[in-house]
Amino acid sequence: MISIDFSLAISLYIILILSAILFLWIFTRRQKEKDLSLDPKFIWHCSVCTYTYINTKEDTITICPRCGSYNKKT
Ligand SMILES: [Zn+2]
Repeated sequence: MISIDFSLAISLYIILILSAILFLWIFTRRQKEKDLSLDPKFIWHCSVCTYTYINTKEDTITICPRCGSYNKKT
């Protein structure tokens, strides 16, 4: 009887720990996804063809991948 109760207690403890780890993992992952969301300054709108593209390398002038025209940040 004692051994059954003990193993039940151990399994309950393990389940509790695992659910806590899972909860923390999901919580931190959601926060990371929020941090990884794209910065608005990297989103460029072409003034010639109105094409929306992403450029994280340059911050003053970028070249539109569709029409090849230069775009300056306003
Ligand atoms: Zn363009």
